[in-house]
Amino acid sequence: MNLHEYQARDILRRYGIPIPPGEVAETPEQALEIAQRLAGTGGGREGRGGRVVVKAQVHASGRGKAGGVKLAKDAAEAGEHAARILGMSIKGLPVRRVLVTPAAEIASESYLGIIVDRASQRPVLMVSPAGGVDIEEVAAKTPERIHRLAVDPRYGLLAHQALGLALKLYREMPQARAAADIMQRLYAAFYAVGASLMEINPLVTTPDGTVAALDAKIVVDDNELERHPEIAALRDPSAEAPSEVQARQAGLTFIKLEGSVGCCVNGAGLAMATMDLVKYYGGEPANFLDIGGSSNPQKVVDALRIITADRSVRSILFNIFGGITRCDDVANGIVQATQQFPMKVPLVIRLTGTNEALAIEILTKAGFSALTDMDEAVKQAVAKARAA
Ligand code: GDP
Ligand code: MN
Repeated sequence: MNLHEYQARDILRRYGIPIPPGEVAETPEQALEIAQRLAGTGGGREGRGGRVVVKAQVHASGRGKAGGVKLAKDAAEAGEHAARILGMSIKGLPVRRVLVTPAAEIASESYLGIIVDRASQRPVLMVSPAGGVDIEEVAAKTPERIHRLAVDPRYGLLAHQALGLALKLYREMPQARAAADIMQRLYAAFYAVGASLMEINPLVTTPDGTVAALDAKIVVDDNELERHPEIAALRDPSAEAPSEVQARQAGLTFIKLEGSVGCCVNGAGLAMATMDLVKYYGGEPANFLDIGGSSNPQKVVDALRIITADRSVRSILFNIFGGITRCDDVANGIVQATQQFPMKVPLVIRLTGTNEALAIEILTKAGFSALTDMDEAVKQAVAKARAA
């Protein structure tokens, strides 16, 4: 689950990370009013001269480059920026809210991030002195400018480790100490909320030497949400892909991808193997979809409704290995779905296992054919996606 920047900021602030204050607006008038208020309370380093930043709150990175982060010299200009940003879509996601925050003066921009790393099976802290909007380019072109440390979760991020990394960012000791402190707090927050990613980019220094976070990104592992109702409550379905929201409501594990072969599979492992095989035969999966272990024709109907709504889908591949899942339930689901809405793209159905013969009978009666060989089915689905 993705959090919005303003939500991520609140969490990091609770863990003692210095982040300028800010408020969320849904209209240009609200943005203007917040900017006026921030200018009134400012006076110090923050909000000097009433300058504020207006920031699109969407689940997309690279907002700055897309024009979704704008500096305003006063409240009136903040309102104008808000009007423009609230009318934008960034990477297909409409902007419904903006964050208005006092503008900081920036002397340097660094990058700080923690991810769960599969290779080392640990949280890995990454830092780079080359932070800002081009961190992807830094990673691609000058990877030596990104420093990594795998953290042993038994001990957490130790002070000397944090300071060692902080010294890769700043030569001056007060700033290095401040950055090290932020890293330890970030790790504590990461561990406590069950994040799979936490990122501060940019971590800035101001001309007077203060270190602060100006942006925050948090992704929380969906499997942690049951343990963290307060985080689960932050979910904003209006900011998520509609297909993923529908799938969650239907009890399906679904991830939208960019390809053209729609996949409907039972079991996460088989779903992964199916996607691998689609790629192996030169296709691209349009989604990951696990209809789950339990048997229920309605789940198949829901799955097909979601997959067929995706206009980039050119063929749909069913790959069912019947165990607890009964093949006849899946077959009935397919038949019911075709009665409820038109199937505009070819279906390739492979099923084997529990009640296979019954399933084939149901499908044949409804005019479908079914395969039992997985390789053959994937090949056909890829070929049909290509031909369409
Ligand atoms: P992102 O593009 O989605 O990562 O959005 P960010 O919040 O990181 O903002 C992008 C860029 O805008 C930053 O790297 C900064 O260069 C700039 N920016 C953001 N906040 C401020 C601010 O308070 N003051 C100044 N001068 N620039 C800012
Ligand atoms: Mn950023």
